[in-house]
Amino acid sequence: MVEVSHLTKKYGDFTAVSDLSFTIEDGLIYGFLGPNGAGKSTTMNIMTGCLSATEGEVIIEGHDIFEEAKEAKKCIGYLPEIPPLYPDLTPVEYLEFVARAKGVPANELDEQIENVMEETGITVYANRLIKNLSKGYKQRVGIAQAIIGRPSLIILDEPTVGLDPKQIIEIRNLIKSLGRKHTVVLSSHILSEVQAICDRVMIISRGKLVAFDAPENLESLMLGEAAIEVKANCGKDVIEPVIQKMDFVTEYDLSEDEGVCTAIVRIGENDRQKMQAEMFRIFGENAVPVFQMTPVKASLEDVFIELTHGSSEPDPEPEDEEVPQEDAEE
Ligand code: ADP
Ligand code: MG
Repeated sequence: MVEVSHLTKKYGDFTAVSDLSFTIEDGLIYGFLGPNGAGKSTTMNIMTGCLSATEGEVIIEGHDIFEEAKEAKKCIGYLPEIPPLYPDLTPVEYLEFVARAKGVPANELDEQIENVMEETGITVYANRLIKNLSKGYKQRVGIAQAIIGRPSLIILDEPTVGLDPKQIIEIRNLIKSLGRKHTVVLSSHILSEVQAICDRVMIISRGKLVAFDAPENLESLMLGEAAIEVKANCGKDVIEPVIQKMDFVTEYDLSEDEGVCTAIVRIGENDRQKMQAEMFRIFGENAVPVFQMTPVKASLEDVFIELTHGSSEPDPEPEDEEVPQEDAEE
């Protein structure tokens, strides 16, 4: 378990992380989701003891990351934004180096390296220089160095950035399989990724935690208020007075395009099916030519935009579409 309380990081006058508090339970996959510059890497660097905090506390499995760094760090495997790989070593040499640095006992070394390579799917390239591996495989080696030493908590900073779509799927599947044995925290600025992999989503915006829930609950957070989209072959002036008569409507929004009026009607906590039937009856009574009524479901994307809008910094990374040239083996 990880407990982060009132974490704040200032760079001079600039507050990169502001009073973050959350708890990470064992056995789940957590996603830090936020636009560039939100403070994800800063938070991860502090959680893993790579960066000091201005204020606040991080407790990893009962150990304070600042006071008992050695014990706390033993529980963590970290893949930073830029993986600390040695290009002139082979995966097996590199993993042996990392395992020794992490204090894996000599008699367990070979077996653990073998298992970790198996788990991350790099056994076939065990003896190829890391610099000659594709980006996807380099990332696997990066994940392998994080899980060696068997830490209970794996922290991965933007693990799929810069990979091609096929590699992204492979790395996502690998992360999901890691989630069966470890607690995983990953960061991403890609919504669909977090939605696909994570059990819990923490949306970070401008250094603040703005939402923390299961992906499906975040969607219903926006839905909390159910809404219905109504389309009618008439003008706004025809439909508006009729909507105003409906006392169960809490809010509405009208637009008109080429003779079709679209109304998004919010009905608060009311039963949507019943209200939809009631609306249909009232529109009929008032001769509003409604031809379509559909429930509106917020997507996680809507939640994300609503909670973080306007807070992204320019993207310093190339986007996912970029396909590395040396990918022949994948
Ligand atoms: P994310 O990983 O979510 O993209 P970061 O944690 O890297 O965000 O950065 C959060 C904010 O802190 C950004 O505005 C970034 O420019 C700023 N920042 C990060 N590191 C430093 C630093 N060493 N000095 C000054 N500002 C920094
Ligand atoms: Mg980052």
